[in-house]
Amino acid sequence: MRTVLLLNVTGNPTGNPTDTLGRPVRDLRISVTDRCNFRCTYCMPKEIFNSSFQYLQRSELLSFEEIERVAKCFAQKGVTKIRLTGGEPLLRNGIEDLVAKLAGIPEINDVALTTNGALLARKAVSLAAAGLDRVTVSLDSLDDTTFMAMNDVDFPVQKVLDGIDAAAQAGLGPIKINMVVKRGVNDNSVIDMAAYFKGAGHTLRFIEYMDVGATNGWELSDVVDAQTIVETLHEAFPIEPVAPAYPGEVATRWRYLDGTGEIGIISSVTQPFCGNCTRARISAAGALYTCLFAANGTDLRQILRQSPDDEALDQTVNRVWTHRSDRYSESRTSITTGVTKVEMSHIGG
Ligand code: SAM
Ligand code: SF4
Ligand code: SF4
Repeated sequence: MRTVLLLNVTGNPTGNPTDTLGRPVRDLRISVTDRCNFRCTYCMPKEIFNSSFQYLQRSELLSFEEIERVAKCFAQKGVTKIRLTGGEPLLRNGIEDLVAKLAGIPEINDVALTTNGALLARKAVSLAAAGLDRVTVSLDSLDDTTFMAMNDVDFPVQKVLDGIDAAAQAGLGPIKINMVVKRGVNDNSVIDMAAYFKGAGHTLRFIEYMDVGATNGWELSDVVDAQTIVETLHEAFPIEPVAPAYPGEVATRWRYLDGTGEIGIISSVTQPFCGNCTRARISAAGALYTCLFAANGTDLRQILRQSPDDEALDQTVNRVWTHRSDRYSESRTSITTGVTKVEMSHIGG
């Protein structure tokens, strides 16, 4: 017997919106601040993000109640995972209250947060108590000189490691560690990082340096490609590929043949994964972006503040998602890399 599915206008049997390439929305990344206590050279270079830079005023940020409304709207459209990011999300006062609100949305089964780890040792217990499921911690080297040159505020490695330990103890694992690899800057830290986190129960993820924003002076020659990273690792610690845990998983997975765990590689530059991209992003100012490399977003803040009911919000999100056609990384050229794009610190990674 033939099964007949009733499709809605978007061709999706669940009734949730899909974009013009048939992709549903599953993950929501929310930037809660555009400020940061680091000045990573690949993200917020000091020369631009200095005391004369115009950060958002408090009133321009979405309130926790507004973020909750947006999250509930997306939860009705198929989102089950939320990640808080920034800037540095742990700089936002009372972030635990937001975590609790998001963790309380029935459709959301995973609330995660990406942090530079500077405040994690202090906050891990309260974040876990509020309902945070997992953290991802960014760390680019175990060598203080290299790490300090990359965070550009002389922040020491040990304090980030303390944060990772505190998070693990608070139950915020399995923890992912993000390492952006930049040629000639920290590529000589790849093996040390792998050796340290191997067997520790955390998954180290190597990220190709990306041409996000317009301030980091990105050049293709600074990128260490995924293939090179895999070969370098394999020589020191033999690895083999692992099938993705779910469709749309950002990192390709590899496991150590000696059974000491897994690593991930995020190869947005050399092996793009736009076909499976189910992520929507909300900037700290409340704009909806449907691609990390977009130049413009759709303002939701005004809608949230003008309409107490959620109908206009709902219609706008549906309209934006069903018109989405982004596949930046698959169509990256020397022309597109030069185009002005939103800053990573504004919409989060
Ligand atoms: N401040 C937090 C942190 O660093 O984890 C959260 C925000 S940060 C923008 C999110 C992630 O984006 C971090 O893991 C960071 O390393 C990564 N990132 C920032 N700029 C990048 C770039 N140009 N290429 C690749 N990854 C980048
Ligand atoms: Fe701050 Fe994270 Fe950007 Fe580094 S990567 S400057 S920690 S927002
Ligand atoms: Fe998604 Fe844009 Fe990245 Fe492609 S380039 S995977 S569409 S965020």
